[in-house]
Amino acid sequence: MSLSKYREKRHAERTPEPFGKAVPTGGPSTGGIFVIQKHAARRLHYDFRLEMEGVLRSWAVPKGPSLNPGDKHLAVAVEDHPLEYGDFEGVIPEGNYGAGAVIVWDLGVWVPLEDPYEGLEKGKLLFELRGYKLHGRWTLIKLKKTPKEWLLIKERS
Ligand code: MN
Repeated sequence: MSLSKYREKRHAERTPEPFGKAVPTGGPSTGGIFVIQKHAARRLHYDFRLEMEGVLRSWAVPKGPSLNPGDKHLAVAVEDHPLEYGDFEGVIPEGNYGAGAVIVWDLGVWVPLEDPYEGLEKGKLLFELRGYKLHGRWTLIKLKKTPKEWLLIKERS
């Protein structure tokens, strides 16, 4: 887990986004906060973020989460974000990475239902969300042929 990719893509003096005071900690993850930000960039998408080891692991979900267990929505893994990003709302100015408006769409805690480290290695995370909008059990499954691509799926119960 590292914020170096995040920082490489941004200029602190040109965007209101946080750069992260927290030093990624390491250590076991027992879940933590989750946040979904609606991001009106060149293409609208939803950024799905799970706190792990002192950073926010992040996926861009073009269609956003679906409450229908029959839907498998693409979730593209993107760079880790600082924890402080979790309550960021604002407008990233034109000419900057991800230019456009960001709002917090949902927020809460996530609880892993299986070991999240094994899950990241195997490419399958099973967890519960306790947010304002989203609840219940969800899975993120990594596609084998295109490793940055995952699917976000609502479990039936
Ligand atoms: Mn985004």
